[in-house]
Amino acid sequence: MKQYRLLIDGKMVDGASDMAVINPANEEAFAQVARSSEAQAGEAVSAAKKAFPAWSSMTVDERRVLLTKLADAIQGRAAEFARVLTMEQGKPQSEAVAEVAYTEAFIRYTATLDLPVETLHSDTEKLVELRRKPLGVVAAIIPWNFPLLIIAFKLPSALLAGNTLVIKPSPTTPLTAAMLAELCAEIFPAGVVNTVTDQNDLGGYLTAHPDVAKVSFTGSTETGRKVMASAAATLKRLTLELGGNDAGIVLDDVDVKDTAQKIYSAAFMNCGQVCLALKRAYVHESIYDAMCDELALLAKLAIVDDGLKQGTQIGPLNNRMQFEKVKTFLDDAAHAGHVIAGGKVKERKGFFVEPTIVRDVTDGDRIVDEEQFGPILPVIAYKNIDDVVERVNASDFGLGGSVWSRDPARAKEVALKLECGTAWVNKHLDFGPDVPFGGAKQSGIGVEFAKEGLHEFTQVSVLNMAL
Ligand code: NAD
Repeated sequence: MKQYRLLIDGKMVDGASDMAVINPANEEAFAQVARSSEAQAGEAVSAAKKAFPAWSSMTVDERRVLLTKLADAIQGRAAEFARVLTMEQGKPQSEAVAEVAYTEAFIRYTATLDLPVETLHSDTEKLVELRRKPLGVVAAIIPWNFPLLIIAFKLPSALLAGNTLVIKPSPTTPLTAAMLAELCAEIFPAGVVNTVTDQNDLGGYLTAHPDVAKVSFTGSTETGRKVMASAAATLKRLTLELGGNDAGIVLDDVDVKDTAQKIYSAAFMNCGQVCLALKRAYVHESIYDAMCDELALLAKLAIVDDGLKQGTQIGPLNNRMQFEKVKTFLDDAAHAGHVIAGGKVKERKGFFVEPTIVRDVTDGDRIVDEEQFGPILPVIAYKNIDDVVERVNASDFGLGGSVWSRDPARAKEVALKLECGTAWVNKHLDFGPDVPFGGAKQSGIGVEFAKEGLHEFTQVSVLNMAL
C-alpha cells in the first residue's frame, strides 16, 4: 500500500503513527498516510515561523515565480492527482480532472496579482503611504469535498502576500494534499509550506497556537464557530468559509426542461457535497408539477457508480459519517413529502445514495431548512414572489442563491434582494479566481479570491511622514 508523508521544515517525514485512507466506493483501505502528533504540528508551526522573515523579505515578483512553478508542477502530474482524488474523495473522474485543472488555474491566476504601495497623500507637508504587509504563519484548514482545490483557494494568496503556511487537510482526504506537499518541498524554501494530517484532533491545537497569526478555514458552520472562539484568545485574523443552503427561485416563465437540467446539475455535482450547491428549489406553482417531473426524470437516469468507472455521473458520499447523516435526511424527506426519484441507499459496498427528488415539502421541514450535503433536492412550491424572497432570506445561511427566468431584468431585480454572498441569474455555482467569494450571515466571515481575497492575508500598514 502506498505511503504518503507530511511536509515539515522542507522535508517529507513520517508521522508519529499512520492511518489508513478508505476508498468510499468500496470501503477498502488503499493507502496509508502519516498521522502527525501534536508535537509534530508544533514543529510545523515553528518551521513556518522560522521561514517567515526570509520569505516575507523576498519580493512579490520572486514569490510569484515560485507559485507559477507550482502550477506547472501540478499540470505535470495532473492525471495522477485526478486518479488519487477520485479514490480518496469519490467524485467521478470527469469532476476530479476539472478540480485539478481549477487548482492549477487558481494558483496561476493568483500569482499574477500585485500588492502595490498606495500613496494616499503626497504634498509639500506630508507623505502618507499604505502598504499591505504579511501577517506571519497562516493555518489553512481544509474540508473533504474539494480537498485539492480548496488548498488552492488559500495557498497562493497566503504565499504571494509573504506569509508562511501550515495546511491541515481533512482526515478522509489527505492524499492529494500530501502529493501537493511533495511538489512544494521541491519548489519553496524549507518551512514556507508545511502539512499536518490528523484524525480531526489537531484543528483546535492550530487555531489556538500563539504563533499562528491567521486561520483560513473552510468547513461546516458548527466547526467555524469553534474556530472563531479558539482564535479569540490571541485575536487571530480569520477567514471562515462555511456551510450554505442555497436557494434557487424559479419564476413562472422559464423553459422547464432547460432550467430543470441546469438546476439538476447545480444540485447533484460532487454528489451534492458542494458548499455552493443548489440545496432547495422554490418553483412557481404554475409550473411546479412539470418541474418536479423533469427533475425526477433526470435523477432516475443518473449513472451512480464508482467514480473511476467511465460514464459515472454520481459517485459515493465521501465518508461513513456523512453517509449516516444523509440517511437521516432520506427518512425525514419520506415523512415530510413525496419522494419522486431515488430515496434509498444502494445495496452494495460503498457510500452510495440514489439521487433523490422530494416534492410537497416546505419551510420548517428539516430537509428544506438544513444543509443536507448529499444527493437530495427538495422542491418547494410558491405563489408570490415577495413572499418567497422572505422565506428564502429567513435562513441563517447566506452563501449563494439564484433566480431563473426568461426575463433577465425581472430575475435580476429579485436576485438583488437575496441576502447572500453571490446571487446568480440563470445559473448557479459559477465562480472563478478573479471574482471575490464569501458568505453572508452564518455562511462565513471575509472573502477569498481576487484582490479582495489576497488582502485578507495582509495587515494594512500606514507610513505617515512630515516633510
Ligand atoms: P468540518 O467542519 O467537519 O471539517 C473541516 C475541517 O475542520 C477538517 O479539516 C477538520 O479536521 C477540521 N476541524 C475539525 N474540528 C476542528 C476544530 N475544533 N477546530 C479546527 N478545525 C477543526 O467540515 P467538513 O464536513 O469537512 O466539510 C463540509 C462542510 O464544509 C459543509 O458544511 C460545507 O458547506 C462546508 N464547505 C464550505 C465551503 C465554503 O467555501 N463556504 C466550501 C466547502 C465546504
